[in-house]
Amino acid sequence: MKKLVVITGASSGIGEAIAKRLSDAGHPLLLLARRLERLVALNLPNTLCEKVDVTDQVSFEAAIAKAEDQFGPTDCIVNNAGVMLLSELDVQDPAEWKTMFDVNVIGLMNGMQAVLAPMKARNTGTIINISSIAGRKTFPSHAAYCGTKFAVHAISENVREEVASANVRVTTIAPGAVETELLSHTSSDEIINGYEDWKESMGGALAADDVARSVEYAYQQPQGVCIREIVICATRQP
Ligand code: NDP
Repeated sequence: MKKLVVITGASSGIGEAIAKRLSDAGHPLLLLARRLERLVALNLPNTLCEKVDVTDQVSFEAAIAKAEDQFGPTDCIVNNAGVMLLSELDVQDPAEWKTMFDVNVIGLMNGMQAVLAPMKARNTGTIINISSIAGRKTFPSHAAYCGTKFAVHAISENVREEVASANVRVTTIAPGAVETELLSHTSSDEIINGYEDWKESMGGALAADDVARSVEYAYQQPQGVCIREIVICATRQP
């Protein structure tokens, strides 16, 4: 029998694609996001949908407890929820930095902490953190966002070392540009248009399912094999 997978930010883009793929593979799922109606509309079998803001540790842990009552222990969590608000730092509203660090870093750590102790106790489990190529190199107008994603790489690898002896895997997946809603929250039309032109110049971005396949690939390895990191980009992305 397939085991429970928790996916954050499953209401659009990469998280939605991961949910569909792992549901097709037969896993019961807990799907989390703020837009509950988008989770429910996916209409996936054996799936609990909960309205959770990942920065709220209490409701995050309560949702996991509810799903575990129904489906048994969490075998995998995919910490995917994220926001990207692009701007040059000198003109950016500091509230945008805070939102990105709260969701992309603290939200992801909330997800890790919610499952780590029971995974260590059961001597099995997988944590998959969705970072970005912006966690490996810098890009124009990305200073705060890159800061969050460099943090995701560092935190993930550090925790991987901490839990390896308990047979728990931590995988970081770092996509390049992917066609999703992510860019739409940036306030500057000039930056959005420049980003769109850049994607066009390389013949288009990845599809969300390209990233979902890499998540499934890492997860479906035997528990004794840990894919530590995947960097996945459109072939023509520089
Ligand atoms: P989308 O904007 O399509 O999806 C983001 C998801 O995160 C949504 O489901 C949204 O749900 C959720 N989310 C945002 N804030 C919160 C919150 N506070 N609590 C719970 N859920 C939240 O973007 P992508 O699918 O592209 O992004 C997914 C991940 O992939 C992010 O971590 C992003 O940084 C990363 N990534 C994306 C790339 C790209 O080019 N698209 C490239 C590299 C990495 P809701 O609004 O309903 O809460």
